[in-house]
Amino acid sequence: MRKTLWMSGLLLLLVLPGLALAQGPKPVDSIPTDKGDLAVTFLGHGTLMFQWAGKVVHVDPWSSQADYAALPKADLILITHEHTDHLDGGAIKALRKDGTAIGSSLKASANLDGAVVLRNGESKELAGILVDAVPAYNRQHKRGSGEPYHPQGQGNGYVLHFGSVRVYVAGDTEAVPEMAALKGVDVAFLPVNLPYTMTTAMLAEAARMIQPRILYPYHTGDTDMAKAAALLADVPGVETRLRPMK
Ligand code: ZN
Ligand code: ZN
Repeated sequence: MRKTLWMSGLLLLLVLPGLALAQGPKPVDSIPTDKGDLAVTFLGHGTLMFQWAGKVVHVDPWSSQADYAALPKADLILITHEHTDHLDGGAIKALRKDGTAIGSSLKASANLDGAVVLRNGESKELAGILVDAVPAYNRQHKRGSGEPYHPQGQGNGYVLHFGSVRVYVAGDTEAVPEMAALKGVDVAFLPVNLPYTMTTAMLAEAARMIQPRILYPYHTGDTDMAKAAALLADVPGVETRLRPMK
C-alpha cells in the first residue's frame, strides 16, 4: 500500500509538469488576409489550429499538446502522416462534429473513418478551403535498417489557401527539391529536429528555396533555436518568428 502511494506520488510529479505545459495558454498570431484575419494558435510540436472566415482547421492534433475537448471543433482536420505525434485518434474524436472534413495521407487514412486521401501533388477543396498536398520525406536521415524515417511518396505537407494568403505546413520532411517549385508561399511552418526532420542548415536551405514572407520553425524538439535563428537571419526577405513548438 505504502509503496503504491509512493509510486502514485512519483507518477503525479512526473505527469503534472507535462499537463501544465500542455494546457497553459497558447500563443496566437494574427495574419491579415483579403477575407479577414487568419488566427494561428501554436498548440505545440507539429500541432496547429487555424481560424479563418468562420472556419476552424486543425493540423495534426495531438493530445499531448492540448486539451482538445476545450478547443473549437474542427471544420477541417489535416493529417500529414501516420506517426503517433501526428495521427492521434483521441484528439481527432474530440475535434470531430457533424460534417468535419478530414484530409489525410493514404497510409494515415487507414485509421480514419471518412478521410479524403490526398496524394503528393493533389489539390482538393475541403470545407471550402483549397488544400494542396506536397511531398514530405527524408533524403538523408534514416533508421538503422536503412529505411528513411519518412519514405518518399508517403507523407504530405499541405499548402492551405486562406483567400489570398498561402500557408505551407511542411509536415515531417527535410529540405527537398520540390520545395523550390512552391510559388507564392506567404507563411511557412518548417520542421527542425533530429534525427527525424531537418538540421538547422537544411532549415535555412529550405527557407531560401521557399522564400516565405514569414517563417515559423516548428516541430523543434531539442534543436538550439538561437542557432537556427542566427542561420535564418542570413536569408534575405524572410521574417523568422520563433514560437514555442517543441
Ligand atoms: Zn514523422
Ligand atoms: Zn513528427
